[in-house]
Amino acid sequence: MISIKSEREIELLKVAGEIVGKTHHYLEPFIKPGITTKELDRLAEEYILSQGCTPSFKGLYGFPGSICISINEEVVHGIPSNRKLKNGDIVTLDIGACYKGYHGDSAWTYAVGKISPKKEALMKQTEEALFAGLSVIKDGCHVGDIGHAVEECAHKYHLGVVEELVGHGVGSQVHEEPDVPNYGKKGTGPVLKEGMVIAVEPMLNMGTKEVFMLDDDWTIVTGDDLPSAHFEHTVLVEKDGYTILTKR
Ligand code: MG
Ligand code: MG
Repeated sequence: MISIKSEREIELLKVAGEIVGKTHHYLEPFIKPGITTKELDRLAEEYILSQGCTPSFKGLYGFPGSICISINEEVVHGIPSNRKLKNGDIVTLDIGACYKGYHGDSAWTYAVGKISPKKEALMKQTEEALFAGLSVIKDGCHVGDIGHAVEECAHKYHLGVVEELVGHGVGSQVHEEPDVPNYGKKGTGPVLKEGMVIAVEPMLNMGTKEVFMLDDDWTIVTGDDLPSAHFEHTVLVEKDGYTILTKR
């Protein structure tokens, strides 16, 4: 069942989302060549705690970091480590924060120093796909409408659409029903209603859509080692549209 949030729950989800957006904003200036992903993770955790929240992903299904940090061909679930960011990398920070039992979830891909025009395009096009997916959201739309819009945008740019990982409902759990795939047919899948909260999160690859998991049992990477980008917002479904809860 997809839950419709009460006014009180929506207020808490708004605070959680706002802190996620602020954490991205806080971290952005630190994303430079030479910083380790562990250091970024520490800064994220400190900031989230300073805002009266807890990092949603810490310990979730056993995840060892506070946020997920995925570099270049890493699609999602990169574990913070002593690896240093290098000039020309792209890096995705996937951040979740929990406020009084309610979550916000947003991923964003950043350039490290000067990146190639091809990586620049991948980032821009994946962000465009996120907003294409969001643009169809309103009371009465189908989950398949979102996937269709994301997929159409991705195919326009010949990008690989990761199918194994999907968006999701958000509430007192980070991951709730429904699944929100980045592919689909218009008019299919669950119907969304005013008061539902979902995360839309295209993960688009420069090359193959195929992905696999590394031996660390967490990090998902592309099948051809080409880079991947990931843009995600948590949004509230409204009568005539949607409100982004994780604005930066
Ligand atoms: Mg996320
Ligand atoms: Mg998510």
